[in-house]
Amino acid sequence: MGTSVVILLIDDDPQLAKLLGVRLQTAGYQVLSARTANEALVCLGIDREGEHESQVDLVMLDIFLPDASGIDLCRRIKGDLRTCDIPVIVITGSDDEEHLQQAFDAGAMDYIEKPFKSVELMARIRSALRLKAEIDQRKRQAKELIAVAEKLKAANEQLRQLSFHDALTGLHNRRYFDEFLEREFKRAQRAGTGISLIMVDIDYFKAYNDRFGHQAGDEALRQVATVLASVTQRSNDLAARYGGEEFAIVLPDTAQTGTLAIAENLRQKVEALRISHPDSPFGVVTISAGIAIQYPKPKEQAQGLVEAADMALYHSKRAGRNRVSLAS
Ligand code: GH3
Ligand code: MG
Ligand code: MG
Repeated sequence: MGTSVVILLIDDDPQLAKLLGVRLQTAGYQVLSARTANEALVCLGIDREGEHESQVDLVMLDIFLPDASGIDLCRRIKGDLRTCDIPVIVITGSDDEEHLQQAFDAGAMDYIEKPFKSVELMARIRSALRLKAEIDQRKRQAKELIAVAEKLKAANEQLRQLSFHDALTGLHNRRYFDEFLEREFKRAQRAGTGISLIMVDIDYFKAYNDRFGHQAGDEALRQVATVLASVTQRSNDLAARYGGEEFAIVLPDTAQTGTLAIAENLRQKVEALRISHPDSPFGVVTISAGIAIQYPKPKEQAQGLVEAADMALYHSKRAGRNRVSLAS
């Protein structure tokens, strides 16, 4: 046994405490002594509030103590989360069966009768400590498992977040958009509210890439995405990259005037970025948008809303680009 094993000896008989203390120390244990229940609580560290773990590995406890009965103290040790795993061996004076039964009921794991035989004493201590070591190890393993599970959960959440976001722009991706639209469409169906969709496409973007290269194209996409995020302020709004140079905004429960205002605001803000585009008639990067608003009736599908917004977007393109159209 290493010296790190701590045995708390609780006995009001100084002679016995001394004798036993010396024996235990000789056997290599570190011994703490307490004469009263209160002293014992201090040694165990449960005289005050706190999360700390007790340093004591084993308690040897006299059933009869001056300030509180050993049985009460045993109950207290077993009832405290910080000390409940510490094995308690009670020291009895005579074979008082009734007290012994009470001590076991209070959670004592073993007993030893005075006067002790050294061999018997050491054997009981060893087996109690073995049990304590096993409990400690199980607890450690359980803690490790919990820590691993928590890490796994965090990693999964991170993966989930990644799988719902577009790497280039940081906006939500198409996959998330599809799920979100489906969910909000059904909610609107149930609640009898409206749902708005704005489909957005960058104008003459192929020409932009052709002139400035893909890297510059990506940077322009990022800037446009920032504007999309800035015009969707409500927590229920969604701005997503729909694919390529196309974006989508979903606005649950938003009236036509509000939807139109957001789309127009987006168009103006993108133009105001003043990203030079010599091959566009506007001289800068612009977007076209198509809006559809629906109060979904039973059995209607979200796909219908997407198609309507797409048609409106097509209309904006045909009408000259850099504009917003509302589906009829
Ligand atoms: P329109 O005004 O009719 O929308 O013309 P457009 O050139 O924007 O439309 P088109 O669909 O012909 O071209 C889209 C271009 O967008 C093709 C490609 O060069 C560019 N593009 C799509 N995705 C990306 C991307 O992730 N990065 C970059 N840099 N360019 C992209
Ligand atoms: Mg396109
Ligand atoms: Mg385009």
